[in-house]
Amino acid sequence: MSRFEVDVYDAVIVGGSFTGLATAAALSGNSDRQMKICVLDPRNYEDLVDQGPNGRATALSASSKAFLDALGIWSHIEDKVQPITNIDITDSSLDVVLRPIFLQFESVLAEGKPAAYMIENHYLHNALSARVSVDPNIDFLAKNRVADMETGDHANTVITDGGERISGKLLIAADGRKSTLRRKAGIKSTSWSYKQFGIVTTIRHEKSHRGRAVQHFLPAGPFAILPLTGDRCSLVWTEELRRGKEIVELDDDGFLTELERRFGHQLGALELAGPRFGIPLEMHLARQFIAPRLALVGDAAHGVHPIAGLGLNIGFRDAAALTEVVIDDFRLGLDPGNFTGLERYQRWRRFDSVFSALVMDGLNRLFSNDLLPVRTVRDIGLGLVNRLPALKKFFVEEAAGYSGQVPKLLRGERL
Ligand SMILES: Cc1cc2nc3c(=O)[nH]c(=O)nc-3n(C[C@H](O)[C@H](O)[C@H](O)COP(=O)(O)OP(=O)(O)OC[C@H]3O[C@@H](n4cnc5c(N)ncnc54)[C@H](O)[C@@H]3O)c2cc1C
Repeated sequence: MSRFEVDVYDAVIVGGSFTGLATAAALSGNSDRQMKICVLDPRNYEDLVDQGPNGRATALSASSKAFLDALGIWSHIEDKVQPITNIDITDSSLDVVLRPIFLQFESVLAEGKPAAYMIENHYLHNALSARVSVDPNIDFLAKNRVADMETGDHANTVITDGGERISGKLLIAADGRKSTLRRKAGIKSTSWSYKQFGIVTTIRHEKSHRGRAVQHFLPAGPFAILPLTGDRCSLVWTEELRRGKEIVELDDDGFLTELERRFGHQLGALELAGPRFGIPLEMHLARQFIAPRLALVGDAAHGVHPIAGLGLNIGFRDAAALTEVVIDDFRLGLDPGNFTGLERYQRWRRFDSVFSALVMDGLNRLFSNDLLPVRTVRDIGLGLVNRLPALKKFFVEEAAGYSGQVPKLLRGERL
């Protein structure tokens, strides 16, 4: 099956979505002694390289932009991204007509560059796929679902549901929140449901958003309006579980009516401009990010509440950190699956991921709450932050993904 005529790849990546593809591109692009890499995904090749719009979009931090730049991806999506220039935060119940803005940020870093950008998922996915499918160091194998895994002294082997066996010195689980590899490796996770439903869709509006993102904290949960190119926005709309499922199944007129109640009229007339997507929201965290010759990245390792649009940005941090650790060892002639390297990766990424998951959890609990004393205290807190420029600057740097131990590729440095 391998076009490299190797029995054992240096790295086998299970999952050909954002994190898996970014990890493959990062490993290949930085291995001077050309690593042999394999990426497996159950979807058809055509669906992997030419995904159509699915209504979903992602907020990318400035550090994720630097990472995509280092992978040679950013120049292919630059004309599709919308910089976020301002962020407004409001906190009111559904029936309040004029929603006061409690907190306003200029989402710009010291050097004048945006702290975050919006991109529709299919553009990002297709650019990553295009990069990986022409890479001479990577076998990109579609229609291959991994069903099982065997561990060995010198390599681990995945077994696809077609019975194919593929071995790698290092296996990388990038197979999402229900990760088969995580389960087969016996890694347990901690998870809980938010009893909330996330509705995602795209709308077109009459007036320009001017790059402004708005987070309305409504009683059922956050309602985020995120600017896209053209006069369009992506919505990430949180509702109580049962109500959310009902709303997503309404006909277009009913859906638009519910949407207008929450969106308001500040951008003029609204129309639906893309498919709807709905998902029950949950938090999950793998108890270990590694096992012998195995590393978990992205949603296979953690899933956080989308309240701050951080999930994939944390996944890109995993990809960049794992690449840094593996490439350092590979250049010294060490086995890419050596356990000491994997322990370094786990020490680096697990604490950071647990911290982010707990902060997102706390914010969601604080803001998806309509008790008057809680609302009063949080509104005073937001008002205070609004009057402290130094604190606002700190939050903008956090949103840009430059806090903690930042991997070199996210700082725009070569390995
Ligand atoms: C409502 C919502 C809004 C969000 N907004 C943002 C945002 O604004 N910014 C942000 O950073 N993040 C956001 N996120 C999080 C982000 O979408 C995820 O973190 C990201 O999609 C995870 O990517 P991944 O590649 O790790 O996993 P996935 O995208 O889940 O991909 C997993 C891949 O593995 C493959 N796979 C699965 N099983 C197997 C198997 N057995 N064998 C082989 N392959 C397999 C699948 O086909 C898939 O391609 C949001 C999430 C939600 C729910």
